[in-house]
Amino acid sequence: SKRFIFARQFDGPPKESDFQLVEEETPELKDGEILVESLFNSVDPYMRPYTRQLPTGITMIGEGCGRVIESKSSDFPVGTVVMHRYGWCTHAVLDTKNKDPQNIIRKAPADYPKDLPLSLLLGAVGMPGMTAYYGLMKLCEPKEGETVFVNGAAGAVGSLVGQIAKIKGCRAVGSAGTDAKVAWLKELGFDAAFNYKTVSSLDAALKEAAPNGIDCYFDNVGADFSSTVLNHMNLFGRVSICGSISTYNDNEPAKGPYPFVTILFKQLTVTGFIVTRWIKEWPKGMEQMVQWIKEGKLKYREHVTEGFENMPKAFIGMLVGENTGKAVVKL
Ligand code: NDP
Repeated sequence: SKRFIFARQFDGPPKESDFQLVEEETPELKDGEILVESLFNSVDPYMRPYTRQLPTGITMIGEGCGRVIESKSSDFPVGTVVMHRYGWCTHAVLDTKNKDPQNIIRKAPADYPKDLPLSLLLGAVGMPGMTAYYGLMKLCEPKEGETVFVNGAAGAVGSLVGQIAKIKGCRAVGSAGTDAKVAWLKELGFDAAFNYKTVSSLDAALKEAAPNGIDCYFDNVGADFSSTVLNHMNLFGRVSICGSISTYNDNEPAKGPYPFVTILFKQLTVTGFIVTRWIKEWPKGMEQMVQWIKEGKLKYREHVTEGFENMPKAFIGMLVGENTGKAVVKL
């Protein structure tokens, strides 16, 4: 089996030399353990800031979706499809007796449609899907007729946020980093979308795309981008702080601008969240996503990189926007 070691702390944008590929024998299974062969591994933005607190030398962190190929657990017979945070590896020995809710081995839903790719368990029907669904519904509470703005809109989470906003009868507005991504957002049914890299000013682009102001802001980007968006919020608007990707490569926390006065006078509700806070509700959310996909109300794209050896490339590429939709690696 092969795995990537987190060999060097990132300094600025991650580099391929920050990872080390190792090959080793898989150990004998003990009672209660299973051997999982990974089918798809995920590369996600959080891996950049989270590794800051981790020691080097560990298996690089991440979620995967795989199949049980050897089992010493009657609950997980050979052939079972599971999702787990086993990190960047081709094979993993997992202890099914470990009931830590943050690290639990989850089975693919029993009624998971045969015609849907299993990789969606890392995307629309997995962690990013739950981020979009619960982060929007619980914290922004979008109401019919309101305007929802999401940045990083052509990514795994953002593309779902805009579509869920449409399902809820809102005006969906998004921004993304290429014209092709913007064209895709319009195909998805976004009412307005713009390329934040080529607009003359973010301020003017928001004025045009959200002429009635923004009621719900789903923030994937943070920092200066968000300070500008707050100026376009309506009274009693809700802000769901999901990510801050524009700052993930910074060594120091961003200093200002401080938009507290805007939050005060607009009486905004601004909430940061980590999606695992709703982990107990995930099965319900996953069911909802599958249903919307089957009904044709939710469309998805995946940016699939082939080959385990290309995991660092896939991660580095995703961070600079090479992906449209969810970035995954097919083993
Ligand atoms: P994406 O699929 O959206 O991929 C990342 C995208 O970010 C890139 O494609 C790129 O698109 C965009 N990007 C990169 N740098 C910048 C920048 N400086 N300014 C604006 N956009 C940038 O990833 P996910 O959908 O998986 O994640 C989206 C956000 O959600 C991230 O911030 C992530 O950390 C957060 N997240 C939070 C969770 C939580 O529990 N709070 C859970 C999951 C995700 P472009 O071409 O448009 O620039």
